[in-house]
Amino acid sequence: MDKKLRFNSATIHGGQEPDKAYGSVMPPIYQTSTYAQKSPGDHQGYEYSRTHNPTRSALERSIAALENGKHGLAFASGMAAMDTIVKMFDPGDEIISVNDLYGGSYRIFTQIFEKYGLKIHFVDMQNIDAVAAQINKKTKLIWVETPTNPMMNVVDIKPIASLGKAHDIIVAVDNTFASPYLQQPLELGADIVMHSATKYLAGHSDTVLGLVAVNDDALHEKLAFIQNSSGAVPGPMDCFLTLRGIKTLHIRMQRHSENGAAIATFLKENPKIEKVYWPGFSDHPNHKVAKAQMKSFGGMISFLPKGGDNAKAIKIVESLKVFTLAESLGGVESLAGHPASMTHASIPKEVREKSGVVDGLIRLSVGIEDVQDLIEDLDQAINLI
Ligand SMILES: *Cc1c(COP(=O)(O)O)cnc(C)c1O
Repeated sequence: MDKKLRFNSATIHGGQEPDKAYGSVMPPIYQTSTYAQKSPGDHQGYEYSRTHNPTRSALERSIAALENGKHGLAFASGMAAMDTIVKMFDPGDEIISVNDLYGGSYRIFTQIFEKYGLKIHFVDMQNIDAVAAQINKKTKLIWVETPTNPMMNVVDIKPIASLGKAHDIIVAVDNTFASPYLQQPLELGADIVMHSATKYLAGHSDTVLGLVAVNDDALHEKLAFIQNSSGAVPGPMDCFLTLRGIKTLHIRMQRHSENGAAIATFLKENPKIEKVYWPGFSDHPNHKVAKAQMKSFGGMISFLPKGGDNAKAIKIVESLKVFTLAESLGGVESLAGHPASMTHASIPKEVREKSGVVDGLIRLSVGIEDVQDLIEDLDQAINLI
């Protein structure tokens, strides 16, 4: 399709054409490892499925269209996508990362990449001067995650992208929490956008997959080289499921955001709740930035019950009936989690508590159910403490 489509059409048509073989409207699941050649090197563009696969290509074109990028790349998981990005750098290179980030991202930085001689500085990126202060000649990558997980801090992408440009540093944004519906980092000047498509993009808690989009041809080439060399690629079935999920991204995100707003407000007004973290509140410390760079505020909320100890948090998450106690986020169903013992257990207690991830904190991924059922569920669980 030549015409550049608006976002709510690009989710359905972006980078997609009916299949050439029989006109199938959805891309077939090309469950093949290899492709016939007429003569050595004479093939139809596909040789081996670690390098390329037509179902994966369809998904890669889709994420490029959604993020307004030129190129997309798909990986076996969000972590495989991040692994590929960081493998562009050499021993001795330095990375500046946001300090409040996904536990698995912290783990791969500190327990895998530091071993290979990369130095990672964790910085509170709500303060741009603190980011600038860490830059030196060895700095090669700035790693941003916004909104952050689980504290829902918002990082202003534009000034960080400008810092990157001024110092020739690549700026990558983990856009998992926002999805391209709410926020488009490449448009704000970032060089790389990365997703755990496991979450909102696939959206149905049925696939683990990672996606990347970039504009720069050379950067794409470097990433595609590592993608093919290291080989952490998704299978065609997972690419198909993610593509199917993406087709409803815009309507799902709209409902996630509406339900999120209603639940954040309910929690804020509840006398048994100490604090609610959600960037849609006008008194959220980064509300202005969130309002400027995001279309809406999404369905991720964290909260702390009054006198918020571990026991109270556990009692609430155990007592929920419509919300499921589970890892992950971004699916159609509502999930509740206890970051200290679940998603963020791989971060040392002193480190996570410094950024607010205390034992009493509960994280919600608000789904697209009838919001009244969700509110009643939270109400009965909170009344037990
Ligand atoms: C889940 C998640 C990841 C990791 O993605 P996987 O698909 O689980 O490998 C990275 N970043 C964020 C923000 C996440 O929520």
